[in-house]
Amino acid sequence: MIRHFVPASLEEALRIINKNNCYIMSGGTDLMVQKHVSTGLLPNFDRSVLYVMGLKELDYIKNESDGSVSIGATTRFVDIEKSELVPEIYKKVIREIASPNIRNMATMTGNIANASPAGDSIVPLVLNDAYVVLSSLNGERKVPVKDFVLGVRKTDRKNEEIITKIVLLPQNLKYFYRKVGSRKAESITKVSFLGAYRIENNIIKDFRVAFGSVSIKVVRNLEVENKYKNIKASELNIDEVIKDYSPLVTPITDQRSNKEYRHKVAMNLLRKFLEEIKGGQNE
Ligand SMILES: Cc1cc2nc3c(=O)[nH]c(=O)nc-3n(C[C@H](O)[C@H](O)[C@H](O)COP(=O)(O)OP(=O)(O)OC[C@H]3O[C@@H](n4cnc5c(N)ncnc54)[C@H](O)[C@@H]3O)c2cc1C
Repeated sequence: MIRHFVPASLEEALRIINKNNCYIMSGGTDLMVQKHVSTGLLPNFDRSVLYVMGLKELDYIKNESDGSVSIGATTRFVDIEKSELVPEIYKKVIREIASPNIRNMATMTGNIANASPAGDSIVPLVLNDAYVVLSSLNGERKVPVKDFVLGVRKTDRKNEEIITKIVLLPQNLKYFYRKVGSRKAESITKVSFLGAYRIENNIIKDFRVAFGSVSIKVVRNLEVENKYKNIKASELNIDEVIKDYSPLVTPITDQRSNKEYRHKVAMNLLRKFLEEIKGGQNE
């Protein structure tokens, strides 16, 4: 029998999910679309549903003593976007997600757990080494977002676990973000690019690159990043960097775009980012 559970506390939610194989629903902006059948018909859920959005104890944003910022799992994008505690790069990415009405319901937690290659907030989370905390009756486990998302709609969540918070680690970096879609709002990403760097005395001290929507999960490669750290910004070989990233970017052709276009756009965005570093415009 399919049941709908509306727990009054996290503890109750954990007890329910420990006993029942449930869908977890937060804002429902992905789940309701996925289970939609037709206008006028009820969505087709083949398993019970656990509604967590009413758990006020998971609706918060706070600074931690180690300098990190915790976001409770039921916090909606609209509140993350407004918070003074959240680093600006996340807000920039969020402002380009969907539309204000969707952001008023949707959560970052759902964006991560939905594990779509076009999940926009996953890109800055991976680039900035953010992690999620998963809770169950057995305790808590921390998993970096880059490891949590395993592939298309596949995550490292166990059946009895609920994501309870997202932890952001603020970084001292300059960012370059571009989202390419068909139109300004409510546009599913064809390609997104996020680069980050820190230059001190013309030396590249930090260098990071992440691509969204060009592979089954966000593309980030630490080996390539390390190769371009501790060199002079003015001597950065742009063509060499592009040659290193080119084989890592492996988009598909779908109804939104073809793979050749996506690859070309991804490399053009990388080039623009590298030109910014080389020019030292934002040092
Ligand atoms: C019109 C429209 C436009 C959109 N545009 C964009 C866009 O531009 N960019 C973008 O990235 N996305 C977009 N989306 C997708 C969607 O809004 C986001 O992915 C949203 O962040 C999902 O959050 P939610 O709270 O609604 O998740 P839900 O739909 O409630 O859940 C999504 C998934 O996360 C799981 N989940 C939810 N909460 C938890 C939890 N606490 N623990 C474990 N698993 C959990 C669910 O089981 C489900 O698998 C769009 C959607 C619509 C309808």
